[in-house]
Amino acid sequence: MPAFRATEIGFDRSLIGAYGHDDKVCAYPSIRAALAVTAPRLTSVTVITDKEEIGSEGNTGLNSAYLAQFIEDIAATQGLPGRDVLRASECLSADVNAGFDPIFPDVHDKRNAAFLNRGIVVTKYTGGGGKGGTNDANAEFVFKVCTLLDDAAVAWQTGELGKVDEGGGGTVAKYIASLGAEVVDVGVPVLSMHAPFEIVAKLDVYMAFKGFSAFLQA
Ligand SMILES: [Zn+2]
Repeated sequence: MPAFRATEIGFDRSLIGAYGHDDKVCAYPSIRAALAVTAPRLTSVTVITDKEEIGSEGNTGLNSAYLAQFIEDIAATQGLPGRDVLRASECLSADVNAGFDPIFPDVHDKRNAAFLNRGIVVTKYTGGGGKGGTNDANAEFVFKVCTLLDDAAVAWQTGELGKVDEGGGGTVAKYIASLGAEVVDVGVPVLSMHAPFEIVAKLDVYMAFKGFSAFLQA
């Protein structure tokens, strides 16, 4: 782990440079939003999960049984099958997306890339070589989430993980989708993803908190 502390960057100090923004910068506003909700209409669960960077492997990663079994256990207390709960569930997969980097513009598809300081990124699909190995969220659910963000005055944008065959990547969304729930990736754009020193914008982090709060209170 790099030993340096998080630091403000930019003449207006609008950026935060730190090690491991991916994915603490989505986990932190997620848990803050969960704690800020006082009277949720629906039962909500915030999962801060392990091992996403190695493919969500192991029995603490989302490519395992623990989340489905946890939901089944809760459902059983109400006399319901867990699969009915999962089919009726909606989920935001909070993970970062690649911000457009003016120093390396050729690895981005500029008109489909996310930009720092333009709000949180709604990522319909991730994947490699196009959409290989992705969730590819249902259009109806993407529309529902974007409408919810608009209604809550949350700044949002769309984005994808770099140019086809140049970038690519994945999130936990496909493991949530495999349980039967609706899911879309929503998160903070980051510069220099996976470098020892990653950069995000404060406004985007705040919009993540606002967006996750709106979702949990819907
Ligand atoms: Zn990552």
